[in-house]
Order: sequence, then C-alpha cells, then structure tokens
Amino acid sequence: MGLTGSTDPDVVMQRRQQLADQLGFDLTRSLMTVQEHAANVVTFHRRQPEGGQCVFDTDALATDVPGQAIVTYHADCFPLLFLDAARGVVAGAHAGWRGSLAGVAIQTVQALHLAYGSEPDELDVLIGPGICGRCYQVGHEVADQFIARYGREARYLHTEGGDVRLDIEGVLRLQLEDEGVAPDRIQSPGWCTREDERWFSHRGGRPGRFLSVVVAP
Ligand SMILES: [Zn+2]
Repeated sequence: MGLTGSTDPDVVMQRRQQLADQLGFDLTRSLMTVQEHAANVVTFHRRQPEGGQCVFDTDALATDVPGQAIVTYHADCFPLLFLDAARGVVAGAHAGWRGSLAGVAIQTVQALHLAYGSEPDELDVLIGPGICGRCYQVGHEVADQFIARYGREARYLHTEGGDVRLDIEGVLRLQLEDEGVAPDRIQSPGWCTREDERWFSHRGGRPGRFLSVVVAP
C-alpha cells in the first residue's frame, strides 16, 4: 500500500481504491500521514471540512468529519487507532520507537481532549500489528533514552544475553494508561509483523507497507 519504494504507483493506487471500495470509505476525502517518526498531531473539524490530502510531518491525525478516513502506513511500526464514539471523533497514529519515545500516544490523547473535549476514559484504542518485544532488538543507547524518559523498564525492556529487546506495544500501553485511558478499553491482537508473514516487515525482510484506516462515524 505504500508508494515509497514501489515500482508501480498505479498498482498501489488501484489497491488503495479496492480497499476503500470494500470497506466503504471515500479515498479522495481521506487524510494521510506523511510520517516524521515523531509525535506531531493535527486535528480536523466538521466546522471546517477539508478534502482528502496528505498531511506532511504528521504522526497522528484526528477528525470529527463524518465519513472521513484517517490512513497511516506501516511495516513493523504500530498503528494506533482511537475512537470517541460519543463525540464522533477518530484518530490514527503511527508509532515506531522514535514516535513512542517522543510520546505520540500521549500527544494524541491530549490533542483529542483539547480539540474535541474527548475524555481519556471514554476512548477506545486499538493497537494494531507491529514488531513484538521478542523480535525488536535495540541498542543500549535507545533503551537508555526510554528509561530516562519513562522509567519502569521492566514493563517494556527485556534483556537476553547482552541483547536488549524493546516492547513498543508495552510502551504504548503504559503511555495510554498514564493518560487515563481505561486498560480494558485498549485492545491489541498481538500479531507480530516480523514473525507473521501476512504482514510487511522492515526487520523481517518483507519490504512494502500495509495501511491502517479508521473512519469517523
Ligand atoms: Zn515477534
């Protein structure tokens, strides 16, 4: 689904259209992140409807425009999908290690509150497929940054021999719970993109991108 590195952009666009047709959303009105691997959040509003576009330097997008879709692209980095059903608000975010370190989950929850009045404990959050804590080896310089910023390393860092593994999903859950999202409203299928060959995976050597989408009700 990703254009980056694709040899045939037309085929990519056909696949995206096919998915949009199957799921029933309007691709031309979709908002897509052009990811920065940081924690930049942009919100859209029904009082100022805007058409479909790529939104540069964003890692999370939110909208309350009915029927508008938020699209993000992934290959080991996690999709984070948010729903505030009471207010008709959705958000989609992209979270790799850099975005997780920068606090993209925290920034998204706070942006939803500021922009739409969404209460954290009324949010439903889906953490999609990504690279799991057994597979994601990181350097000590990465691990140390997480400990310095978030502490509680036992929740998301594992050491085997001299190797350190980072559980990004564990970091995301910690951040969401700290922001007041109810633990039982955070769902994740636990599918590892590196181990499960259905998914594209940077570390797993399956180049390409899958997309995640959430559509405002
Ligand atoms: Zn794995």
